[in-house]
Amino acid sequence: MENIQSKTEEKNLVKCLIIGSGPAGYTAAIYAARANLNPVLYQGMQPGGQLTTTTEIENFPGYPEGVSGFDFMEDLKKQALRFNVDIRHGVVTAYELSGKNHKLTIDDRQEIETQTLIICTGATAKYLGLPDEIKYSGKGVSACAVCDGFFYRKKTVAVVGGGDSACEESLYLAGLASKVYLIVRKNYLRASQIMQERVLNHPKIEILFNTNTVGLFGEDVLEGANLVRFMGEPGEEKFDIAIDGFFLAIGHKPNSDVFKHVLATDENGYIQTQWGTARTSVSGVFAAGDVADANYQQAIVAAGTGCIAALEAERYLNFN
Ligand code: NDP
Repeated sequence: MENIQSKTEEKNLVKCLIIGSGPAGYTAAIYAARANLNPVLYQGMQPGGQLTTTTEIENFPGYPEGVSGFDFMEDLKKQALRFNVDIRHGVVTAYELSGKNHKLTIDDRQEIETQTLIICTGATAKYLGLPDEIKYSGKGVSACAVCDGFFYRKKTVAVVGGGDSACEESLYLAGLASKVYLIVRKNYLRASQIMQERVLNHPKIEILFNTNTVGLFGEDVLEGANLVRFMGEPGEEKFDIAIDGFFLAIGHKPNSDVFKHVLATDENGYIQTQWGTARTSVSGVFAAGDVADANYQQAIVAAGTGCIAALEAERYLNFN
């Protein structure tokens, strides 16, 4: 009964609608609320975003002792509520981004119109799809070396991937761990030349070319990986390596699917914004955080672009 009542009281014409509840979404909401835009923020399928799945955040300025990803997102939510942000649950299932007001449908049933839209739907790290990745999640498996690498000081880790991310993560981890295996499925690295050279010349990094991961093992926590060299080819060879950490760096997928037929995206699906702004290809629609960031994908950057998006929305409303 309470729910039905509160639904009927929800406003369906707003000045500023924010989709996504990671650092970009909440920062945009805090700024928009303080500018009297009375923002509505929709939490998606993963309230709080990717950070709620990380262990400890130690690189966000202002937390000298570090903070858990969950606590950090709870603090952002509390801060948004302090400024009366209208936080709702639901995912966008349809929309019409044109005219003075943009029309969106949430969960196939509720319609909302907004003068400005800020998309902060984030990105999702790609995994190999092995059941063992779920089994050892938080017990040795990670998709973020910068977030979790510190826990593997003087230990042995593996990184999967052959692009710039995998090389960057390997080099980062090599500064902490005693040994880093880089597991590359092809016989070459796809990364830029300079990154390749750094990885190839690093004494702590051993590259396993032509190698696929087919399983992980360990009693309670991760203890090793089952690998296959030349999988399905002549000379196929199965072998195991002992590792404490297994890091995925096979790319991220921006959560832009629902919008990519209308908004300009790059070839990987990241929403394109005008340089130095959060403006997308549609007037009054802004994007911030990882969904529009193919390069950095850090909480502090997401928060910064969330701030930019809210300031841009405010300016847009003043001039339109
Ligand atoms: P990329 O798409 O460039 O590379 C992904 C890597 O993961 C490839 O080597 C790919 O292998 C491998 N891979 C994908 N799926 C699997 C799988 N199922 N099993 C095993 N390996 C797999 O992604 P990145 O995240 O590395 O980079 C994304 C973009 O960001 C790039 O444009 C990159 O240049 C840029 N970037 C730039 C950085 C910098 O300049 N400092 C740092 C990080 C990223 P295969 O080659 O066989 O397809």
